[in-house]
Amino acid sequence: MSDCLFCKIAAGQIPADKIFEDDCALVFRDISPQAPTHLLAIPKKHYPSVHEIPPDEVGTLLGKLMTAVTTALRKTDLDKNGYRLVVNSGEIAGQTVPHLHIHVLGGRSLAWPPG
Ligand code: 5GP
Ligand code: ZN
Repeated sequence: MSDCLFCKIAAGQIPADKIFEDDCALVFRDISPQAPTHLLAIPKKHYPSVHEIPPDEVGTLLGKLMTAVTTALRKTDLDKNGYRLVVNSGEIAGQTVPHLHIHVLGGRSLAWPPG
């Protein structure tokens, strides 16, 4: 999508502090971190949220996205120290960028339940 912020980041049109990238996914640092380590993992293909991925693409797309997340967890040492993965979907859940993304948060203690 030409007017989507994360599509522009995926296409290299807007700079980002990248942690990992392959042909399907990109992991980069959030511009407004809510924890000492706050990453965003996105598929390069535009879908607003998980439930909008066509059923025949869900396994491959999310599999590749989670593979990128696991690589980023190892690169940032969150695998050793603990972390939280979050997907906000829709305005009610606080989603502000309508391109599917997994928040990866770590480096501090995280309260539960979330607000
Ligand atoms: P959401 O609120 O949709 O779950 O998460 C969107 C996230 O994108 C927010 O945490 C916000 O800080 C981050 N964000 C917004 N604009 C940019 C940007 O231009 N670059 C980066 N790296 N992160 C952004
Ligand atoms: Zn997009």
